[in-house]
Amino acid sequence: MARYASRHPSYLPENFYNLKADLPELPPPPLNPATREPLRPEELEPVFPRGFIQQEITRQKFVPIPDEVLEVYSRFRPTPLIQASALRKYLDTPARIFYKYEGVGPTGSHKTNTALMQAYLARQEGVETLTTETGAGQWGSALAYACSQCGLKARVFMVRSSYRQKPGRRILIQLFGGEVLESPGPATAAGRRFYQENPDHPGSLGMAISEAVEAAVSQPGTKYSLGSVLDAVLLHQSVIGLEAIKQCQELGIEPEIIIGCVGGGSNFAGLSFPFIGQNLTVKNGIKFLAVEPEACPSLTRGQLQYEHGDTAGLTPLLFMHNLGRDFVPPPIHAGGLRYHGMAPLVSHLVRMGLVEARAYPQKQVFTAAEIFFKTEGLLPAPESAHAVAAAIEEALEAKKTNRPVNILFNLSGHGFFDINAYDPKNGNA
Ligand SMILES: *Cc1c(COP(=O)(O)O)cnc(C)c1O
Repeated sequence: MARYASRHPSYLPENFYNLKADLPELPPPPLNPATREPLRPEELEPVFPRGFIQQEITRQKFVPIPDEVLEVYSRFRPTPLIQASALRKYLDTPARIFYKYEGVGPTGSHKTNTALMQAYLARQEGVETLTTETGAGQWGSALAYACSQCGLKARVFMVRSSYRQKPGRRILIQLFGGEVLESPGPATAAGRRFYQENPDHPGSLGMAISEAVEAAVSQPGTKYSLGSVLDAVLLHQSVIGLEAIKQCQELGIEPEIIIGCVGGGSNFAGLSFPFIGQNLTVKNGIKFLAVEPEACPSLTRGQLQYEHGDTAGLTPLLFMHNLGRDFVPPPIHAGGLRYHGMAPLVSHLVRMGLVEARAYPQKQVFTAAEIFFKTEGLLPAPESAHAVAAAIEEALEAKKTNRPVNILFNLSGHGFFDINAYDPKNGNA
């Protein structure tokens, strides 16, 4: 049995897959916070490029990927699908474990997939600057890369706790020519509210989103870009699962458990939605598992109700599992999972019983990452390590029942810039 699926160019899809086209029922729509009426697409125009809004609302099943974006994807996609045979041997399990490795892209995570598409759509309309927020910096660096490819400026509000803990990706953003601001900070009214109370405020993704949205709507030629949560972002990430379907066919395997970590839900959706779409027509009996940190348990402990996407309440109301927009998660290392909400589509699938949610403590996650590193030789991002932990748990479960189940998880990014989090002297593992 081959350890790797090939990375044949024909595996790179020419269209994104839109799960909304196949769902029998859609989640409740976003609301205008002032009127609590369903949001009209035009109301988003001050914030997002029109092309992006179009992709947010479309129910078209296949959305073409522009040639220019395909050309850039083809530099690092299809990403590898690898059998974790050393991990399997270490765990002494009958389960076969596979992972889709998104860390091979330019900035080391799946976020580049949507960043390139969003920068392309913005440039189509003559936008000059994209603003955004970032936690650990994966999204900020992906967008800064995409902007530099498209000749746009990137202005990134970086959550202060990450800015100070993790200089690596801040430096990447700056090397790509992007501007980085510590959030919350004095540049916006939303930031000043918290900054004046406490200039060392650790910040949160919710606060940084408020700042980035305000900075976009208040400047001409400037739009805002979001790296997760929205339907269009999940749509762009479908390239992961579309490739994986072909790669699994090549290896002759049918995954039975599909796992992704969840912050806003995009890498999980990217891998799982194309398989979920198949499951809706021909029942494939796959178990879909979304894994989050116990410290920020929006799916397992949050309420499914309307909430703003940001802390200041500038964004539309989204119907999603959330912990309340004022929730400030503790500064855990998986900065990309410190978000109070969850993609409405992922929330919806959990409610429909199509996706199962699970939460893990940081210690278990770091232990899993260390085992994966020692066996497979790749250092997972602390976010991705949540998926590793679930894959290990499922593989050990299969050992108890002696079932040779096929497990596929998304290794959404590498953790080389998070190396301090893995320092034994920090006592995480
Ligand atoms: C941002 C990020 C996540 C979390 O975001 P999702 O939208 O839930 O995918 C997970 N893994 C990595 C490597 C990330 O950069």
